[in-house]
Amino acid sequence: MSCPVDGKPLHNNAVICGDCEQTMDRALGDLGSLLEDLDTALSRQSRKRPARGNHERDDKPLPYELGASNAASNLKAVLVAWARLVSDERPSTYERVIIVDDETTEVRTFHLDHTPLTCKDTSESISSWLMHHVTWLAHHEAAADAYSEIVGAVNNIRRTIDIAPDTRYVGPCGSVLDGIECTETLYALEGSDDATCRTCGTRWDTRARTLQTLSRALTVAQDATTLSRSFALRGIALDTKRIRNWADRKYLAGAGTSHRGHRTYIIAHVARLIQLYETGQKLTPWPAEQKAAAV
Ligand SMILES: [Zn+2]
Ligand SMILES: [Zn+2]
Repeated sequence: MSCPVDGKPLHNNAVICGDCEQTMDRALGDLGSLLEDLDTALSRQSRKRPARGNHERDDKPLPYELGASNAASNLKAVLVAWARLVSDERPSTYERVIIVDDETTEVRTFHLDHTPLTCKDTSESISSWLMHHVTWLAHHEAAADAYSEIVGAVNNIRRTIDIAPDTRYVGPCGSVLDGIECTETLYALEGSDDATCRTCGTRWDTRARTLQTLSRALTVAQDATTLSRSFALRGIALDTKRIRNWADRKYLAGAGTSHRGHRTYIIAHVARLIQLYETGQKLTPWPAEQKAAAV
């Protein structure tokens, strides 16, 4: 028998594997701070809205607020359902053989916290209660459903926080006016490549700026997955397939091996290729390597 979720071997008559049990436990444990993050994202949204709208539509929740509240109420429904199942089906006492010393063992009865749910329970209080019953749930015939519903609902909250419309840090302005460098910090709206400096009014193409900064990162090497993630964090979509393709075609030379055992590439080399690619220029290997290859 193997785990219905990921096919790993099962132990101790459990219905899902130890890794899945741990994932479910971690999902419940992360909830408290995730819900706080969700609150922060929501309050940031409402601060952006006019305090008193002159139009009727200003009172309607934003799509993001709707998405967030749907994710939160779905999560609570899932937690309540599994907490009910535990309190209905799990015996409130159980017996365990305890090793007292080398020669003696004794059977002790343990009592479980079976406080029934009240309407005052929050998702956090239910999830911390459920954390005492994760191992029991992993042995329940519906364990795979518990796993997919609980982990799914928590990941849904994570995704909702991730898509919170927000501003992205770009860096110091740095435009020089009358010999003085502007030190204002630039922010761009997520999804936009424009940033206007609040102090000097210079408009920047944040994407070009970011690529320029990255093309100076000559000492940092990352594997394709990490590269793709770090470029995405700076608002630049870069497929891991494209990186590997560039490596296959010898435009990118490997710099080493990551701790995961994957080939790494220098950030500056990758940023330069993106710049060439996006301006329709011919891709070439990093100049230093061209020389080395010619020798
Ligand atoms: Zn599993
Ligand atoms: Zn400025």
